[in-house]
Amino acid sequence: MLTLHPIPAFTDNYIWCLHDNQSAYVVDPGQADPVLDYLHDRSLALKGILITHHHWDHVSGIDALMEEYPGIPVWGPANETIPGRTQSLTEGDLVTLNWDIQLQVFEVPGHTLGHIAYYGADTPLGNLLFCGDTLFSSGCGRLFEGTPEQMHRSLQKLTVLPPDTKVCCTHEYTTSNLAFAQAVEPYNQDIQERVSAVSALRGRNLPSLPSTLDLELKVNPFLRVTESTVLESLREKCGQRPANEVDSFAKLREWKDSF
Ligand code: ZN
Ligand code: FE
Repeated sequence: MLTLHPIPAFTDNYIWCLHDNQSAYVVDPGQADPVLDYLHDRSLALKGILITHHHWDHVSGIDALMEEYPGIPVWGPANETIPGRTQSLTEGDLVTLNWDIQLQVFEVPGHTLGHIAYYGADTPLGNLLFCGDTLFSSGCGRLFEGTPEQMHRSLQKLTVLPPDTKVCCTHEYTTSNLAFAQAVEPYNQDIQERVSAVSALRGRNLPSLPSTLDLELKVNPFLRVTESTVLESLREKCGQRPANEVDSFAKLREWKDSF
């Protein structure tokens, strides 16, 4: 049986691990120790590492993992410097894992310029999206390298995937993202419900993830930049209505940066 487990790392990272009680793959191992503990406890053999972007909290565990599992593939974006990378990926590339799983690569610039996401359709665990620091639950990554237009386009690329797609992002930011979402749309009932659900999960120290795309479309302000409620809120905040959807996205991102 296949399992998808978020291994907690640092204070708010998750290292997603896909395994069948024998073989395992991990996404964005920013730290090796929690991964090694998880693998050793279950006698799992690491078969490969998937990387979404070059930030230290996503790549710093690669070297130590490769020392213990030499020769395994390290997939990563072609347009960034990734330590130990063995396979360079660009838009449309396919990554073949065990279990007949193929992941499709999307280039999603914005948080960083070379950021990629991995999408697996119809896996034994459903449709899976590993999106790193691009799409978060109720939020999106900060624009460290890209423009609002790039990030908006990247998010649009992901939201056309099937609604039941599981969103496996890399940070547990959901609670603070929801506080912002509530400020933008105080009367959105779906956001209220998500706040209750997430506070119950976090109260028991359980992850708020994976989320799903259909839920994100209802609660994530960064995917709702053309909704009249969001536009009205931006008009109140900025004194004028956004000129277009990219402007709307840019204003939301600026607001969130200082929230
Ligand atoms: Zn990052
Ligand atoms: Fe990160």
